[in-house]
Amino acid sequence: MKRQTVSKKTRFEVFKRDAFTCQYCGAHPPGVLLHVDHIHPVAEGGTNEIDNLVTACEPCNAGKGARLLNVAPETLAQKAAQVAEREAQLQGYAEILEAKRQRLDADAWRVLEVRYGKDVKTAPRTEITSIKRFIEKLGVHEVLEAMDIAMGSRVSEWKVFRYFCGVCWNKVREQEGGAD
Ligand SMILES: [Zn+2]
Repeated sequence: MKRQTVSKKTRFEVFKRDAFTCQYCGAHPPGVLLHVDHIHPVAEGGTNEIDNLVTACEPCNAGKGARLLNVAPETLAQKAAQVAEREAQLQGYAEILEAKRQRLDADAWRVLEVRYGKDVKTAPRTEITSIKRFIEKLGVHEVLEAMDIAMGSRVSEWKVFRYFCGVCWNKVREQEGGAD
């Protein structure tokens, strides 16, 4: 017996909050079909409130054992509904990725502006790539700070980017050291 009483709207709100990613194992579309899992099981009085729901892929959701999911669609209508669901999930996941990419582009641009001012468009591709990698590791604020430090240093112009990378790597090491 399939028990999916959560509305599509609520379901997609949960997916969005969780970046269309299974919160147990990190799986995401198109590899898996996502479900919402009740943190506090319905059988034990858990509600359909968004705070009680979490994104789970099919294996993780089924593995909880709180209920048996009949995942095979029984009729053509059910099959069509499942295809539509898959497509909607894939679309939602693609939107999350696109938003993330745009945010990263905008953040990298801010760092490049510190370095190049209004000549930001002349920035070499390799520098943009490195900056994005550092932003992913450290967050934009740390990277902006590193660029401020590099620009404020007295190293010659051709060494500024190297200096910036050195500051970033120190920050990465600090973070990794601090995580122990
Ligand atoms: Zn999973």
